[in-house]
Amino acid sequence: MKRRDFLQISSLSLAALLVDGCSESQKYDVTFLNDMAVGHLVFESSNFSVANTSATKYLIAGGGIAGMSAAYQLRNEDFLLFELSDLLGGSSSGSMYKNIPLCHGAHYDLSYPSNYGGEVSNMLKELSIIRYDRFSDSWKFVDKQYLIPKNRESQTFAHGGFRKDVLPDGATKATFIELMKSFTGSLPMPTRLIDEEHRYLNNLTFLEWLKRHLTLDSDFAEGLDYHMKDDYGAGTSQVSALAGIHYFACRPYYTQPIELFSPPQGNSYFIQRIYDHLPKSRVHTSHLVKRILKNDSGFEVEVVDAIKKEIKKVRCEKIIYAGNKYALKYIYPNDFHIFQNTKYAPWVVANFILNKPWTRDTFWQNEIISNDKSLLGFVDSKAQYSFADSQQVFTVYYCFEPEEREMMSSIEGRKNIFIGRTLDYLENYFKKSLKRHVEKVFIKQMGHAMPIPEKGYLFNDANILRSNPNLAYAGVDTGRLPLLYEAMDSGITACRELEDGHQLF
Ligand SMILES: Cc1cc2nc3c(=O)[nH]c(=O)nc-3n(C[C@H](O)[C@H](O)[C@H](O)COP(=O)(O)OP(=O)(O)OC[C@H]3O[C@@H](n4cnc5c(N)ncnc54)[C@H](O)[C@@H]3O)c2cc1C
Repeated sequence: MKRRDFLQISSLSLAALLVDGCSESQKYDVTFLNDMAVGHLVFESSNFSVANTSATKYLIAGGGIAGMSAAYQLRNEDFLLFELSDLLGGSSSGSMYKNIPLCHGAHYDLSYPSNYGGEVSNMLKELSIIRYDRFSDSWKFVDKQYLIPKNRESQTFAHGGFRKDVLPDGATKATFIELMKSFTGSLPMPTRLIDEEHRYLNNLTFLEWLKRHLTLDSDFAEGLDYHMKDDYGAGTSQVSALAGIHYFACRPYYTQPIELFSPPQGNSYFIQRIYDHLPKSRVHTSHLVKRILKNDSGFEVEVVDAIKKEIKKVRCEKIIYAGNKYALKYIYPNDFHIFQNTKYAPWVVANFILNKPWTRDTFWQNEIISNDKSLLGFVDSKAQYSFADSQQVFTVYYCFEPEEREMMSSIEGRKNIFIGRTLDYLENYFKKSLKRHVEKVFIKQMGHAMPIPEKGYLFNDANILRSNPNLAYAGVDTGRLPLLYEAMDSGITACRELEDGHQLF
């Protein structure tokens, strides 16, 4: 397709990334990680034969952070977990290429203040991931090798120049920080613990709130938009004031040092730690939960084995559904209405493995970097951890508009153009030629990567509205902020919802 045709389809940024360039002829070794092919199994599997029928007490659909946290709570019970991808972790997945760890989504978390919910902190403590530090009254990470040094944390490239922070220094920033300080300590995680007195902030947009309290110049507004999109998939005019303020005030950022924890495999580090504690025979990847039907004793669930191309029927008493909720329309239509207004942001994460690193100053997070608003910068492995000096990985993040989701399927067919354009941005940032040093590229596409916390979104606890007490929902798309701590808490609370007299944990 030529440039003109593509631009007619959309004036959005993904179209611009996919149009034919004149000089782009280089080919790259690319592996796509997307679950679209497995999604097609839903239709294809109508011809598959039923292989066997089994039974379990608990069935968990989805092996992201939420589903895995639920499995951890149920590790001593009779349970089965099914994950449609061949990798566990969902938007927090990672993998290895040769001996190089790669992160395909969520890549960091920060130390946790002591006023955060005890359930998640205790679980992370049991997993030996965090340890309480009396001096700072917070939970700090045990694996110190993955803490990012302060002087390497980030660099922003905006309007042709470099600066330290996404938000430009000046009077607006000083006023903004004072405003945020007034909320620090009152907006914990999980968000279900936020006091009634602050919940009105869920009913207006962040931009509406900002305009009441601040005179915004365009540079500062651009920085805030960038931050919101980077964490919540949409800008200040879309996300709620509560989500926006929470981002800046959920930790004592302005008065205490906060640890930034970013292992090279990203937050799949947390997934692996949980997996290490689970009975392996109960966790099944490449298995799609296709349909949930109610029966007299609980449920009968159709599960598609994507490798063997057969259907397994699983009878169970209780279900934790931790998969993305937009698919309930097909899997369990009874409750789809609870989630039908949730908007999801589509993301693409691309790992560029370079066979020739260089020794210049590096920064972990490289922000803004171009005038393409969908490109949310990249993580540079050189500033993240020390490993064999012969390779370097840039992990590039794109967040597109929901309207661009359909077009994401065109990336695979136009991969060399997409990669070439992305590398143009990186070359412009580094003022250095990179293309001939690219040894391998991985591209992960997530059409429904994260729920956008628009106004009214938070506190809509799907478990209050669910139709069957024996089927509980977990995942950040249950009225939670799209964050690791929230995902874990949702998995833990979903198990609590299913407790029937005897304590699970
Ligand atoms: C690019 C990106 C970067 C992020 N970075 C960070 C970060 O640095 N820090 C942070 O705290 N948060 C980050 N997040 C937010 C992140 O989404 C959450 O932290 C968390 O990983 C969400 O977990 P979840 O289990 O709720 O959902 P998901 O990760 O979406 O997991 C859902 C799982 O269910 C599976 N599934 C869906 N349907 C079915 C089915 N029918 N049958 C079987 N399996 C099914 C999916 O394949 C998936 O594995 C990021 C998100 C994205 C997209």
